[in-house]
Amino acid sequence: MNLDIINGTVVGPATGPAGIRPVYIRDGKITLATDKPADRVIDAAGLYVLPGMIDAHCHLRDPGLVYKEDIATGTASAAKGGFTAVACMANTQPVCDNAAVVGYIRNKAERVGKTRVHPIGAVSKNLEGRELAEIGLMAQEGIVALSDDGKPVVSADFMRKAMQYASDFGLVIISHCEDPSLVDGAMNEGEWSTLMGLRGIPAAAEEIQVARETILAESLGLRVHIAHVSTRGSVRIVREAKARGVKITCETCPHYFTLTEEACKGYNTLAKVNPPLRTEDDRQAILEGIRDGTIDMIVTDHAPHHEDEKQVEFALAANGFIGFESAFPLMNQHLLQAGVITLDRLVELTSVNPAKMFGLESGTLQEGAAADVLIADLDDEWVFDRFATASKAKNAPYHGMTMRGRARWTIVGGDIVHEFIR
Ligand SMILES: [Zn+2]
Ligand SMILES: [Zn+2]
Repeated sequence: MNLDIINGTVVGPATGPAGIRPVYIRDGKITLATDKPADRVIDAAGLYVLPGMIDAHCHLRDPGLVYKEDIATGTASAAKGGFTAVACMANTQPVCDNAAVVGYIRNKAERVGKTRVHPIGAVSKNLEGRELAEIGLMAQEGIVALSDDGKPVVSADFMRKAMQYASDFGLVIISHCEDPSLVDGAMNEGEWSTLMGLRGIPAAAEEIQVARETILAESLGLRVHIAHVSTRGSVRIVREAKARGVKITCETCPHYFTLTEEACKGYNTLAKVNPPLRTEDDRQAILEGIRDGTIDMIVTDHAPHHEDEKQVEFALAANGFIGFESAFPLMNQHLLQAGVITLDRLVELTSVNPAKMFGLESGTLQEGAAADVLIADLDDEWVFDRFATASKAKNAPYHGMTMRGRARWTIVGGDIVHEFIR
């Protein structure tokens, strides 16, 4: 479809300073000037025209765990939340540790996906941390990164070899950091875990491995990316490493700068996630890391589960939240409108930096780029209803909370994949 988007405030690193100007989409690409007529005109007066968001970390549960989510429902939820591309983790069944599974995900996404889907390959076979996965063959099939996410790579020796091997293919390893000897708990270790009589997971469980990855990356001169940073100590380790020139990047998720361990009150399993929700001091440190550039991107870690997996005793409940449809409003409200960051920086965190890490051409609105666009309303207020998302799963901790901002149109390669008309 040939589309004209008019009257919107355009924010894109490749388009100069933010301002009201038209964006033309012709044959699926952004153009600055054209004499071809449009099939449709979107009046974006009062709205913002941004590069589509790229989620660098989500779980689509397909293949094998499709009672939780599948590629069709997961990407429908992502499109509704303003994402034009998502990168899905390898902890499916079977594990995405070989070219056949990568091919399956790409083919299915091509057929039923609303957004682009970039598979992330496992570092190790069956996520067991013993034998390298088919990294070369998966690279040929189009993976964008490597990760055993869901599980830590326990052996430092194995991680070192994996970093070296991955670098031959220009792939970064995304490290899910937790020391297995310290993670036998159900929530953050502290005041609330004591009050609730639950075993806690200390911040050190995460920080020990963040430090290890930093040391390995530094000694090899290779890059590494830290998944879902949740503690003050992790932010400090990454900040100091970056200052020394270590090739380290990291991400956090909206829940780590909007919620604290207190959300687990009343044994609320909807607030159970790994790494766990931390303290107010950690939350402040995450905000500082976002503000000063230590944190490179914000990802959802969208982790759909069946209701039955959450409606059990707290210690036994599954970890994780769905996150596609709450991410933009939470970033808008808690980062942009709270004055922590500018809109340019938000676009860096959600589009530019994920594209850079994966080597994608999208993430900007530059002329000739694929037309992956988000048209967003920053002021619309609505109440989050966990039963009303496009995801198959309902496990969100934000039920009943007022959200500010929403995706009005999500456009992938010139096709409108989500539209919210009031
Ligand atoms: Zn993880
Ligand atoms: Zn994850």
